[in-house]
Amino acid sequence: MDGLRFTCQPGCTKCCNTEGFVYLTEEDLKRAAAFLGMTPVEFEARHVYRTRHLLRLRKPRYSQCSFLMADGCRIHPAKPTQCRLYPFWPELVANRDLWIEEGAKCPGIDQGALVQIGAALEISDEMRRAYPAIYGASRRAASSTDAA
Ligand code: SF4
Ligand code: SF4
Repeated sequence: MDGLRFTCQPGCTKCCNTEGFVYLTEEDLKRAAAFLGMTPVEFEARHVYRTRHLLRLRKPRYSQCSFLMADGCRIHPAKPTQCRLYPFWPELVANRDLWIEEGAKCPGIDQGALVQIGAALEISDEMRRAYPAIYGASRRAASSTDAA
């Protein structure tokens, strides 16, 4: 495989509406808090659910993410790592069939620019480092189940 084609589509917010949890790193939490002019403690109390090993955004009742607005992500410059790196998640980069399947959720997949496989793997490694409780040392696939 030479690489993977991907270009995020203007106006699209499909991935933000996909069923699943949005996990944050400790740094993500601080960055998003600062972006909103809140302290990390305030941001966590209002927006975050913390378990022993993971942090995730609290989900509002009728949507997948409380930061999803009609015109996109309210915290776009400070959005969590998994949002920023999607769709170059380890389980998708490592498996061509899953990558193609993911195209049903992301219209940017297989569109536009070719991202060389080395660059795609580097991005997916950033995801592994950011979420060790999900990916662990054994390079297993992520799950939407909280591993805490
Ligand atoms: S934080 Fe922003 S990018 Fe991530 S799911 Fe929510 S709205 Fe989408
Ligand atoms: S679903 Fe794909 S194309 Fe749409 S916003 Fe998300 S990453 Fe971009």
